[in-house]
Amino acid sequence: MNANVYENSSSLYNDKWVFLAHSVALEQEAAERMHELAETMAVHNNYELHELLTALARYSESHAADIKALCKDETLPNFKAWEYSWPNDESPEIFYYAKVHYLMTAEDALQTALEVELSAEAFYKDIALGTANPEIKELAGAFAKEEQEHAQAISDQLKAMKTASYPGSLKALDQTDFDPPHMPE
Ligand code: ZN
Repeated sequence: MNANVYENSSSLYNDKWVFLAHSVALEQEAAERMHELAETMAVHNNYELHELLTALARYSESHAADIKALCKDETLPNFKAWEYSWPNDESPEIFYYAKVHYLMTAEDALQTALEVELSAEAFYKDIALGTANPEIKELAGAFAKEEQEHAQAISDQLKAMKTASYPGSLKALDQTDFDPPHMPE
């Protein structure tokens, strides 16, 4: 067994520095995915989504920087890619990479961005629920909440987009309810 590998994934749940090292990796990974999605939208001249996705990338970048700052007097374990122990043996990056391509529609891009945020939220929630260490629980809980807010922002955007592209659905209903056509006299 490689001595550099932390004995098993349980250290993710009980060693604060192992948890934070994974968090930094996850945020950096998420930032890269968001930048790629943002670029895809720029290619499609969709500058509104380019901005939204770039903003989400910057949240991840600043979160990674905040975590590093939090650790300033401590040294984070410096894992090689294969030394991380992601829950279910699944690095967040593997899941999305194949989905990023330049034929992506705005809806695809948002859907993929949503999955990035939901996956980050799930990671933190899993740690928050699984850890017995109160400090890790608090950090992971706060991180999960932040990711949940990002996911909500994207999901609102997706809803708005669907409403706009299918005016026959929600808007028509609203018109039926609130703005009935004039009846002949
Ligand atoms: Zn996020």
